[in-house]
Amino acid sequence: MSISVAIVGSGPSGFYTAGELLRAVKGCQIDVIDRLPAPFGLVRYGIAPDHQSTKNVQRLFDKTARDTAVRYFGNVEIGKDVSLHELRACYDAVVLAVGAPLDRPLGVKGEDKLGVYGSAAFVGWYNGHPDFRHLDPLLDCRAAAVIGNGNVALDIARLLVRTRAELEASDMPDFAVDAIARSPLTDVYVFGRRGPMDAKFTIGELREMGELEDGVALVDAAQLPETLDGYSEEERRARARNIEIIKAWVPNRPAAKRKRVHFAFYASPVEVLGDARVRGLRLERTRVEGQRAVGTGQFFEVECGFVAAAIGYRSPVIAGAPFDEKQGLYINDDGRIGPGLYAVGWAMRGPTGVVGTNRADGKTVSAHIAADLKTASKPGRPAFQAKLAERAVRVVDYADWLKLEAAEVKNARPKAPRRKFVELEEVLRFLATAPSGA
Ligand SMILES: Cc1cc2nc3c(=O)[nH]c(=O)nc-3n(C[C@H](O)[C@H](O)[C@H](O)COP(=O)(O)OP(=O)(O)OC[C@H]3O[C@@H](n4cnc5c(N)ncnc54)[C@H](O)[C@@H]3O)c2cc1C
Repeated sequence: MSISVAIVGSGPSGFYTAGELLRAVKGCQIDVIDRLPAPFGLVRYGIAPDHQSTKNVQRLFDKTARDTAVRYFGNVEIGKDVSLHELRACYDAVVLAVGAPLDRPLGVKGEDKLGVYGSAAFVGWYNGHPDFRHLDPLLDCRAAAVIGNGNVALDIARLLVRTRAELEASDMPDFAVDAIARSPLTDVYVFGRRGPMDAKFTIGELREMGELEDGVALVDAAQLPETLDGYSEEERRARARNIEIIKAWVPNRPAAKRKRVHFAFYASPVEVLGDARVRGLRLERTRVEGQRAVGTGQFFEVECGFVAAAIGYRSPVIAGAPFDEKQGLYINDDGRIGPGLYAVGWAMRGPTGVVGTNRADGKTVSAHIAADLKTASKPGRPAFQAKLAERAVRVVDYADWLKLEAAEVKNARPKAPRRKFVELEEVLRFLATAPSGA
């Protein structure tokens, strides 16, 4: 009998691992488990709704999900419906592919004020993640601040200044389109602690900031390096094109369009100002020494009624998986956590890289599984199914997902790819009445 593997998490790292396992361990039985009804993790709930072509990787995962050796168990949370200990008793190998869905705190005074959001929450809200359906972010203000200098910060800033027509052509849920389109926001500040050479923006995302229908990107020329002399060849190669793009914004006129995105570097937030509600940010000007931003003792304030912190994520603690509190991920050695227990993707490495970066983790860990486990010694899928039945867990399987997906596409706004089901009750109500095979 071949081995059984449970993969906890159906995002890129989970599905790449399943695909690699099919090649590396002939005849193995693979169950992909997700706490949400819909599969694909951040491909569905992280990648921006106006970046549909990036979501096409879903087709590759769909092919894996349809393999006869693979089963999808949606709406099953490990650590809640079934413990990790119980799961390990069922399967020869368990792979944690749970990502890093929790926001890192800003760590400044006042960050608990109304109107301050972590990017996991705000991005989850505009992407229709069930956990954030009722976030109702406070967008009734003229200015917003986005803290962070990576692509997530760019996604947030860009979507806040998109027009209704641009948003309606995406799969952003109606409630988020309405809230953003109705908001009186005119100015979005993107703050980075270090300089433009240190920002993690990628070129495509940066270029888009110069091509917004009703938003203009602004930057102070004094914050840009006059020359790239002094930077290593590698740094120059990686960042010179970004600097060129940012430089092209210098002559932009603030009044050129209705909304503005102000890029402000060398600025570190020290306090969120206001009463119960955020009314502004106090920041310290910095200079970069080596790789670090160092405070200069000069402070300034910006008025804003909304703050999104896009400064990184942590994995969730799951009882039975040793956790590195400092790094916010599972303690592992190249993906091995302990006998029969592995981690891949953001749960293994932390929240860095693009979708494709997770493929290598899947390859590494499936090779470890092939080397570590030669014969089956656990009961596999039937034991897991028995546990779920005993607890009356309503599993959303892949056939259910295909019905949901077909309905999402059918219900889409004109020009939009789909209208997402957001709440679990909605999903279950639909599945209870959907014809079989629909
Ligand atoms: C806002 C944002 C935008 C991004 N945009 C891009 C982009 O444009 N292009 C790009 O290439 N990359 C992008 N990325 C990066 C990309 O999304 C990640 O590299 C990738 O999703 C990480 O995969 P993962 O499988 O480790 O985690 P995830 O995609 O987060 O998947 C984890 C899955 O585990 C499930 N899960 C969690 N806990 C449990 C549990 N206890 N039981 C069962 N299931 C559980 C979750 O529901 C989720 O489905 C973006 C990331 C973010 C945050």
